[in-house]
Amino acid sequence: MTREELIRKAFEAMENSYAPYSGYHVGAAVLTDTGKVYKGTNIENASFGATNCAERSAVFAAYSDGVRKDNITAVAIVSDGDRVCAPCGICRQVLSELIGQDVPIYLSNGTQEVDMTIRRLLPMQFGIEDVIR
Ligand SMILES: [Zn+2]
Repeated sequence: MTREELIRKAFEAMENSYAPYSGYHVGAAVLTDTGKVYKGTNIENASFGATNCAERSAVFAAYSDGVRKDNITAVAIVSDGDRVCAPCGICRQVLSELIGQDVPIYLSNGTQEVDMTIRRLLPMQFGIEDVIR
């Protein structure tokens, strides 16, 4: 699957966004080494802290199906915002543990595109090696 195809899958996921409060729609797609794609979208809630971001939804869906870090080969995160949708702090923390450090992360809003990795998005990470000694 090409980079563009994965980004397209993320835009498909964005169509299911549930964002009645922010009106900010996000989609994500996680590509695995079998070629399977897991999609996620942002799902807001009146209790704002219960809101879940698109990239966490997608990665959690993959993990729920048995996928693990070594199986994930790329991630796309897209939005309808004015600039590319960089993952929030919570998502950076989650991705730092659940995907490889150098897995490509494609960010797009349809007009701008940026390629990232979690290594670049979250320097000096707090991780499993800090907790389990
Ligand atoms: Zn987030």
